Amino acid sequence: MEKLVLQDVVRVFKKNVGVLGVSLEVKEGEFFVILGPSGCGKTTTLRMIAGLETVDSGHIFLDEREITNFPPKLRNISMVFQNYALYPFMTVKDNILFPLKILKMPKSEMEQKVEEIGKTLGILELMDRKPGEISGGQKQRVALARSLVREPSLFLMDEPLSNLDAKLRGQMRVELKRLQREFNTTTVYVTHDQVEATTLADRACLMNGGKIVQMGNPNDLYTLPVNTFSATFLGDPAMNMIPGEITVKDGKTYLKLEDFTVEMPDIHTERETPRDVMVGMRPEDVQLGDDGIAVELNLIQNLGKSIYEYFKTQHGDNIVRQDVVSSRLALGDRSMVVIDPKSIYLFETNTGSLIY
Ligand code: ATP
Repeated sequence: MEKLVLQDVVRVFKKNVGVLGVSLEVKEGEFFVILGPSGCGKTTTLRMIAGLETVDSGHIFLDEREITNFPPKLRNISMVFQNYALYPFMTVKDNILFPLKILKMPKSEMEQKVEEIGKTLGILELMDRKPGEISGGQKQRVALARSLVREPSLFLMDEPLSNLDAKLRGQMRVELKRLQREFNTTTVYVTHDQVEATTLADRACLMNGGKIVQMGNPNDLYTLPVNTFSATFLGDPAMNMIPGEITVKDGKTYLKLEDFTVEMPDIHTERETPRDVMVGMRPEDVQLGDDGIAVELNLIQNLGKSIYEYFKTQHGDNIVRQDVVSSRLALGDRSMVVIDPKSIYLFETNTGSLIY
């Protein structure tokens, strides 16, 4: 069942793009991630769902009921913010109790719920402390507890892990996923961090300039990017992009890359050629061999279990290669990057759209 539906939702600010017609559907129990660079409209979308931002046009439905113009408190939606927004003068326990008091829940039931959620999140021993007396990771857990305790119909999170250090962020990612499975609360999660998106999401959408560029499960977003924006946003180091040209001769299609030409047996183009393309190659797919484009190694980055080698082509383009074993190449060594039609992507240079 569709839990949350956004139909062509728009929010335009005077000078800025905001959100330009976002449509999406989130299923019951799904962990849905909105991913994209700073300023692409992620937070504005989330705030419209929460009722904290005016919707200029379009419709929002929750549990098949239109909530587009409902005030926030009538939506039964819970939101966790980047800065946690805990009340500094209340104890941890009172912070967690707060939403239940608003719901006028009987005292014994409230106590029981706080006990349960405190146990699940491992924060029982913090109950009498104030937010100023606990760590960032603990504040994060308290904020989650406060949101989960009221059993909302929908859970919204805006970059909730961004204030944590790298190690704690990794731990909390695992914990968040576990909690979401346990509570089975439909969640919409905003982040600019592709690792968070791919590790947490059942499905994700990638936004740019106030619009959705692509939607799907994280694996599809990575392996089937619709354009150069998608292709280079997901993946670290980003997909290599080298300018090339497609030509057709005697009914066969060829790709010319720098001084190297390869036949592309799976492309049958009727279009006028030559045609400018961008050739995309993931760092993990880059192979070295005896035939291909000439490169020179100019930087090596060792990451422990893998290694990144940065090459420069004769035309001055950069190619990164990821390998699991230590390469025998040294700085300044020359080699060839193999162009295998099976492991490259082609994008139209003008539009950025995927053509192969
Ligand atoms: P970030 O990751 O940096 O938080 P975001 O993707 O969440 O970015 P939004 O906060 O949704 O982006 O902002 C989208 C665009 O709308 C930006 O250009 C932003 O400057 C603009 N914007 C957001 N809120 C307002 C506002 N209240 N008034 C004017 N412009 C705004």
